[in-house]
Amino acid sequence: MAGNRPVGVLALQGDYREHARVLASFGAEVITVRRPAELERVSGLVIPGGESSVMDKLSRQFGLAEPLRAAIADGLPVYGTCAGLIMLADTVLDGMAGQRSLGGLDISVRRNAFGRQRESFEVDIDIEELGAPPVHAVFIRAPVVETVGERASVLGALDDGRVIAVEQGNLLGTSFHPEMTDDHRFHRRFYERVLATRFV
Ligand code: GLN
Repeated sequence: MAGNRPVGVLALQGDYREHARVLASFGAEVITVRRPAELERVSGLVIPGGESSVMDKLSRQFGLAEPLRAAIADGLPVYGTCAGLIMLADTVLDGMAGQRSLGGLDISVRRNAFGRQRESFEVDIDIEELGAPPVHAVFIRAPVVETVGERASVLGALDDGRVIAVEQGNLLGTSFHPEMTDDHRFHRRFYERVLATRFV
């Protein structure tokens, strides 16, 4: 049954364990995804934070990049945080030489957009779609969404207008790390999409 399919967390690199813990707290069966056969089993996927250039290399080495692109094109619900957001962006600015993303989100993101002074910081952000209270967002060498194409929509921005949360169909992305806080409304939003989609 489609409804019994597990939710996946891409586990090539990065803080995938924290995401797995959040999803398991919803009662979901969670599996780590490192191979195409594992990807085929899941009804949704979280792409964690970490280092997008490394994730890119490993996804190609593990033969996962093309299956991931195909799954995204097929409508698999995917939530990317930080490096995961970079992986989902159609265009990556300030990437490493030869760095590629998976794409899917009609946006461009700039890596490490906050520079050295603000490598890590935390801030409360009002996200209209999530209601009160504001989301306490943890940023770590985070990207910003620099341009938002017609197909994507903005879910959240900093006070200065820089976009840090976007959505497009079954794709969701945040520059920050909700898995490091107790506020899991973004994961819940992703998981509701998984349940609604019952990917087969
Ligand atoms: N700076 C990292 C990158 O470019 C992202 C950092 C993170 O995921 N916390 O991939």
